[in-house]
Amino acid sequence: MNEHDSENIAGMLEAIGYIHEENPNMADVLIVNTCSVRENADNRFFGVLGTFKKIKKSNPDFIVCVCGCMPQQPRIVEEIKKSFSWVDIIFGTQNISRFPELLDRRIETGKKQYAIVDDNPVVEEHMEPKRLFKHKALVNITYGCNNFCTYCIVPYTRGREKSRTVKDICTEIDKLCRDGVKEVMLLGQNVDSFKDPVTGEGFPDLLRAINRINGLERIRFMTSHPKDISDDMISCFGECDKLCHNIHLPVQCGNDRVLKRMNRKYNRAQYLEIIEKLREACPDITISTDIIVGFPGETEEEFEDTLSLVNEVGFDSAFTFIYSPREGTPAAKFEDQVPEEIKHRRFDRLVDDINRISLEKNSTYLGKICEVLVEGKSKNNDNVYSGRTDGFKLVNFDACSERELEGKTVSVKITECKTFSLEGVIVDETI
Ligand code: SAH
Ligand code: SF4
Repeated sequence: MNEHDSENIAGMLEAIGYIHEENPNMADVLIVNTCSVRENADNRFFGVLGTFKKIKKSNPDFIVCVCGCMPQQPRIVEEIKKSFSWVDIIFGTQNISRFPELLDRRIETGKKQYAIVDDNPVVEEHMEPKRLFKHKALVNITYGCNNFCTYCIVPYTRGREKSRTVKDICTEIDKLCRDGVKEVMLLGQNVDSFKDPVTGEGFPDLLRAINRINGLERIRFMTSHPKDISDDMISCFGECDKLCHNIHLPVQCGNDRVLKRMNRKYNRAQYLEIIEKLREACPDITISTDIIVGFPGETEEEFEDTLSLVNEVGFDSAFTFIYSPREGTPAAKFEDQVPEEIKHRRFDRLVDDINRISLEKNSTYLGKICEVLVEGKSKNNDNVYSGRTDGFKLVNFDACSERELEGKTVSVKITECKTFSLEGVIVDETI
């Protein structure tokens, strides 16, 4: 979500004549886009921001802007105003489209500009992102979140859930495909609760409509919520030929009492039933997840339930997080916080299991030929390309070819399987 916000901001700046400059010492405008989902990002932010003070001092025309989730929290804005008073522009997650206007005003008046709203009822349309990749694009389908999982700050920093219309989304994707895009990643905190505000169509209707767009080859989406994923959505895996055989379905934990205290609104048995249905509808589907260890009150036995679930499901990969208390969320006030040392011990055990299972899953690809959509060349070696399979496996392969392969689909024979990637050799360019 943040990455796509950055793309939108870069696109707006290009449209008014700015060009990208990697070196802050050479730039006229610097934008710090922030995340606050875990404390670590919070802590790093102030350190990073501080490093720009020197440039600002030596060049008063240098304009420093802060945006993203952190300024959505009043205490952070106060801190910036107090200790980093040289920051010129602060804007939140829900008025990104106002950034060019804020920048103009800052330049014209010399005055600091602030634009933060709690909950913007307007869905921002008509932004022209500067995409990171030529052939794949991020597309928002919903903004915000209504779920209030007790550990999570997102509903407070991104406001209430709002869906775009199927028509606006399809028009955007159609335009992207005319511009060479082959793969879209549909973004929403809970894509399954998508509901067209005009027609009332749901997520499966949206998938079917996108599947009909000419030129598009792959559809991905994130994130699905186990409480809202429907049988109709699952049947799309059989129906929509462009829908990738891959799903990211965060489980967070394998114990019912903890799931309840997290306010996730599903239990272990229901999660396992969804996995069964997904594998029935799409036998080669790859499944990834998010897991939090050390949620307040989590006992050793409850943590063991998470380990046993991980082994039972056999995830292809998982993002694992140590619980991080976020000010203003209910769980931060729960009294039975788990000591850091125990959290870290559990985390290490979990990661060991996840990595072992990932390697086992990846090993089944040895000798197979996979269709890979090429993302680009390796930074270190011009002959090594990397890309993703339909199931989102990262594949690195040798390609001693003069041809530009970025954005092309090629067949790669897998010769080595690692925990986080597959290695192979190109067999044929199917294009
Ligand atoms: N909307 C998505 C995820 C958004 S945040 C969903 O519901 O799955 C991405 C992940 O960060 C979450 O799935 C969760 O695993 C993790 N996360 C969120 N808040 C956290 C916290 N306070 N401490 C640790 N991990 C957290
Ligand atoms: Fe956070 Fe839960 Fe919303 Fe995901 S669904 S963004 S974890 S509150």
